[in-house]
Amino acid sequence: MQKKYDYLIVGSGLFGAVFAHEAKLRGKTSLVIDKRTHLGGNVYCKEVEGIQVHQYGAHIFHTNDESIWQYVNRFVPFNHYINSPVALAKGKLYNLPFNMNTFYQLWGTKTPAEAQAKLAEQIAQYGVAEPKNLEEQALSLVGKDIYETLIKEYTEKQWGKKATELPSFIIKRLPVRLRFDNNYFNDRFQGIPVGGYNKLVDGLLDGIDTQTGVDYFADRAHFDGLADKVVYTGKIDEFFGYELGQLAYRSLRFETEVLGTDNYQGCAVVNYNDGDVPFTRIIEHKHFEFGTQPKTVITREYPQNWDLQKEAYYPINDDHNQGLYKQYRVLAAAQENVIFGGRLAEYRYYDMHQIIASALKAVKVAFAEA
Ligand code: UDP
Repeated sequence: MQKKYDYLIVGSGLFGAVFAHEAKLRGKTSLVIDKRTHLGGNVYCKEVEGIQVHQYGAHIFHTNDESIWQYVNRFVPFNHYINSPVALAKGKLYNLPFNMNTFYQLWGTKTPAEAQAKLAEQIAQYGVAEPKNLEEQALSLVGKDIYETLIKEYTEKQWGKKATELPSFIIKRLPVRLRFDNNYFNDRFQGIPVGGYNKLVDGLLDGIDTQTGVDYFADRAHFDGLADKVVYTGKIDEFFGYELGQLAYRSLRFETEVLGTDNYQGCAVVNYNDGDVPFTRIIEHKHFEFGTQPKTVITREYPQNWDLQKEAYYPINDDHNQGLYKQYRVLAAAQENVIFGGRLAEYRYYDMHQIIASALKAVKVAFAEA
């Protein structure tokens, strides 16, 4: 029997939206459904006081891949925003990522040679040859002063665990620079879509049928009956009814406030690194687009334990959960008519450019392209 669509796409985040767009270019029809009342997944922005508010945490687009940069710029122009967060620790502000400015603020070192000597001294004193956890990794990368001021307490509140019980890979990506350079990312291309991320999602989903506020699992047989194939971007364990057990996540709670001032903190991201402050950072959304509105909107980001009622933000990629995920992958591989992709289905902490690359790869496989 002829089905109404070629693809049912469960989840309208970047993976689903890119897949739907590419399928359409190849003459295939899709229905994209989302249980939230809006499209776009976690990149969704809500306009408040003329400001694009990142509803599910700050999203800063960055990539080294020129083709991915050109791809997103086809749908909406990106501005020249460069992420340069500052950290408030023990009453003082520090530049991030760790660079010559940070070293000057911390130690008063003025030249790369002085900073390097100080780092080497700290690492020689506190570093270990084979770091077995995040604390040892940090001490081996930057030594005790930076670890205790800017990493330990922030990391422990972010993950709800002692740094000695956390895997070292979490901070492997923190760069250390002997230049005066506060650009958080190393990538060649970086920016924010002018007018917000909804423009990107709307562009991708232009001309594609969508339904929001509908739960795939509430009427699975009905939805499966609408299309030949399913692209599933939700939690992989939920797809299989948690039959092998639940994968663990870390969640976040956002508290958003409109303030009567036009500039609250002078940049988009301020980290609060001390353990006695319950949130990890404050986002002032207007600065992503150099906004000049009379008011401002800020969001405090509180890490929290995850359960099934909460949003799943950060996968806990420890050995246990990684092993469980691998078992779910075996079940997934046996589902001939289902494509699994995106942060939740791949159980990976993806940045946006990586999700787009993953979706484009899935399209190539699905359409047997080289
Ligand atoms: N981190 C830290 N101090 C900071 C910022 C980050 O120790 O001021 C560590 C922390 O362990 C965090 C990791 O670096 O989990 C990655 O942080 P980032 O802000 O890059 O990740 P995001 O949470 O924005 O994805």
